[in-house]
Parts: sequence; C-alpha cells; structure tokens
Amino acid sequence: MIQIPEQLKELIEKSKLSAIIVHRNPDGDALGSALALQSFLQKKGHKTHVISPNEIPGYLKWLPETEEILIYETNPEKIQNILKDSEIIFTLDFNDLSRSGKDLEKFLKKLKAKTFVMIDHHLEPSDYARFMFSDSSKSSTSEMVYDFIVTLGHKNDIDRKMATTLYTGIMTDTGSFKFPNTTSQTMRIAADLMDKGINHNEIQTKIFDSFSLDKLHLLGEALNKLVFLPQYKTAYIALGKDELKKHHYQKGDTEGFVNYGLALKDADFAVMFLENENEGVRISFRSKGNFPANEFAKKYFNGGGHLNAAGGKTSKSLEETIRLFLEKLPEFINRLQLENA
Ligand code: 5GP
Ligand code: MN
Repeated sequence: MIQIPEQLKELIEKSKLSAIIVHRNPDGDALGSALALQSFLQKKGHKTHVISPNEIPGYLKWLPETEEILIYETNPEKIQNILKDSEIIFTLDFNDLSRSGKDLEKFLKKLKAKTFVMIDHHLEPSDYARFMFSDSSKSSTSEMVYDFIVTLGHKNDIDRKMATTLYTGIMTDTGSFKFPNTTSQTMRIAADLMDKGINHNEIQTKIFDSFSLDKLHLLGEALNKLVFLPQYKTAYIALGKDELKKHHYQKGDTEGFVNYGLALKDADFAVMFLENENEGVRISFRSKGNFPANEFAKKYFNGGGHLNAAGGKTSKSLEETIRLFLEKLPEFINRLQLENA
C-alpha cells in the first residue's frame, strides 16, 4: 500500500485547478493513467486538464475524451497559462522532466516553486517533485494511480470509464499480462477493474486488432528485414524514412514491432531503429530475463527505461547508428558475461 502524506490529501481536497502531464510520445499507460486521474480529480471538484507534449497516437484515440487533451506542441501559450494557474501539477509515467520534450521541460523548470506530484514506475527518478510516488516494482503507472485513488478511500469513485483507461494502461504496459512486471497484485487490480463492467475483449481488439493495412504491410517489411546475430542472441530491425513514407507511416504505427524480435526462440535482446523524418534515430530495446536493456540504452544511446523495455535516440544517420550499435553490442555483452562469471 502507498502512503499519501496528509499535506497532499489536504491539497487535493482544497485545490480547484490542477494539471496532469504525460511523457512525450504518450503510450497506453501514460494516457490510461492520466485520463483516470483526470476523472477522479474532476469528481473532487477540480478543473483539470491532461497535457501531452506532442500528438496522441492514432491507436489510442478511441480512449474516452482524448479529444480534450491539450497538446503542448500546438498550443504552448494556453498550456503555459494553465500550468501557471494550477495548484497541483501531476506528472505521470515519467521520471525526469526531459521526458516531456525540450520546450515543455524548459518551461516546467521555471515553475519549480509549483507543487509537482510524480506518479511513476521507472527506475532512478529525478528529484523535481514535492510529492514523489515512484515504484519500479509496479507494472504500470495505471496500477499506481489505481492504488492512489484506493488509498485516498475512493475505490467506489472508479467508474467504468476510469476502469477502461486504467485497464488499458496495465494491459499495454504488461503486454497483455505477459511481461515479468505482471504480479499477482496486477492481476487482482485487473480483476477489480473488470468488476467495474469494462469490456476487456473490446479493449484488446481496439489496441491489438485494429491495424491499418499500411501498418500491417510495414510490419511485413520490418519482419523481412529482421537481422539475427546468434552469437549475441540479438535481433534487430531498422526502418528508414523512405520505407516509412512508402507505407504512409503515422505516429504509433510501429508500436509493438520491436517485440517480434524477442519472439525468435534464441533471442534475448531485440532492438528497433526508426529513422526520424528530420534528424536522428529513435531506438526501442526489449530483452528477456536479466539482460539490462535500460543500461545499454543509457550507456550508448541517451536513453533508459526498465530492465526489459527501454528506449533511446541518436542524432546520427541510420547507418551510423547501426554501426555504433554493432560496435557496442559485443563490448556490452562481454562486460555482462564478465560480471556474471
Ligand atoms: P518504447 O520503446 O516503447 O518507446 O519505450 C520503452 C520504454 O523505454 C518506455 O516505457 C520508457 O520507460 C523507456 N524510454 C523510452 N525512450 C526513452 C528515453 O529516451 N529516455 C528514457 N530515460 N527512457 C526511455
Ligand atoms: Mn508505463
């Protein structure tokens, strides 16, 4: 159970205006947790907004009220005013202000005196929040928001709509209850959410069986290009901007592709490189067992994340990025082997 300080409880009771910020390129957990917290705060009488640094990916637009989410990239002044007026600023599903993107980060740093509340399940949280709920043993931020609301004594306030978004967050961050971050408590919470009348099968369908034909073709191309390095138990996929363009790439279209590398019997590490339209490369890392995807991302690719799921980036070309990866992989694996010898 989490401990919620009295000052925060009082602040939530007496505040009228709050804001909820999610990380850049928000995923199911970021949006699922934020939308549920928004509903809860509205029930407490707050006027509150969910703020995303950039656009909402198409595969999550069916979540209730996503059209009301404010996008910092397109509306910075309005959002700056809201944040200046907010009595509490919740930051969800991220551990460092840099995850909100350069421009929003810069503005948030100027708001240091504000009451920030972090709810997050990533390792190594930065110290910017007055109230910090950080627990990397949790499957998802959605699980933590559920705990937060229940601990405040408002389990009965969780309605079907909130249960739907929380379930979506838990389901996506656990890969449908398959990743090692799934605990018995995760399952209990999922069961409680099901008891609120959600349609879990419909949620699965909306997330996993709603590909566009373009996305499916892009997946075909990605799978065809998969490279396996058996000596390093590593599989990788690289998608260049021309390939993305060919399949009319939309944000979120490659969500989940990296996991196919791990479907390979002898792969313990899977990587996907995605060339940005303007400059640089976005990278996703996934691993099985004890392989620290987050350490690899942090050490060489300006990123981080969880043990088995991490991300990073470079400002290099796709070819240079892959070269760097192929150079660092043996070094990293040798080091791991030495450490575990
Ligand atoms: P994805 O591959 O789905 O973009 O990211 C997987 C996980 O890695 C995310 O849930 C997040 O925890 C982490 N992550 C992704 N990108 C970054 C990044 O640039 N920096 C850090 N610190 N973590 C990241
Ligand atoms: Mn998450």
